[in-house]
Parts: sequence; structure tokens; C-alpha cells
Amino acid sequence: MDLRLWCFGCARGSTVEGSIWRRFEARGWPLDLRAARCHFRCKECRSTENILIVPASRPLPPVEEPISWEREVMRFFFQSRRAAKKRR
Ligand SMILES: [Zn+2]
Repeated sequence: MDLRLWCFGCARGSTVEGSIWRRFEARGWPLDLRAARCHFRCKECRSTENILIVPASRPLPPVEEPISWEREVMRFFFQSRRAAKKRR
């Protein structure tokens, strides 16, 4: 699992390869994100204080979905209106 590191201190993001976990294992560090936080350091400002770690593989929230759903409803609405006109 690749990780996405975000530093609030200098507003920079970087990606950490999933192979980092092998190093954690070798050192006997805990393998969960919350506990791992303090072992990561920002490459730019060397801070360990304001680091956010998220899995890089996490799917993005479906931003498009409400829009396309609305479009579906609109299409249904116009289709049924057209059908109603034909019946007349
Ligand atoms: Zn930083």
C-alpha cells in the first residue's frame, strides 16, 4: 500500500512507497497509520508534527455522481413529456 504524505506545515505532499512497511516491520514499529505518523518526516521542512498520512490507493469520492444522476432524472422527465405529447 503506497502512502500519501501531506504536510500542513509547508503544504507539500509526497508519496511514500508501500515498501516502507517492510522497514517498519524490521524495526518492530506498529503497522497502523495513526501509530506510524510520528515516524514520518516532511522532506521539505523536516517536521513530524503536522503530517497527514492517507493511503494513496484510496479511491476518490465520486464527485460526478450527483450531476449524472440529475441528468438521468432530466432525461427521464423530458422523455416522458415527449411521450405524453405523442399521445395527444
Ligand atoms: Zn513540511
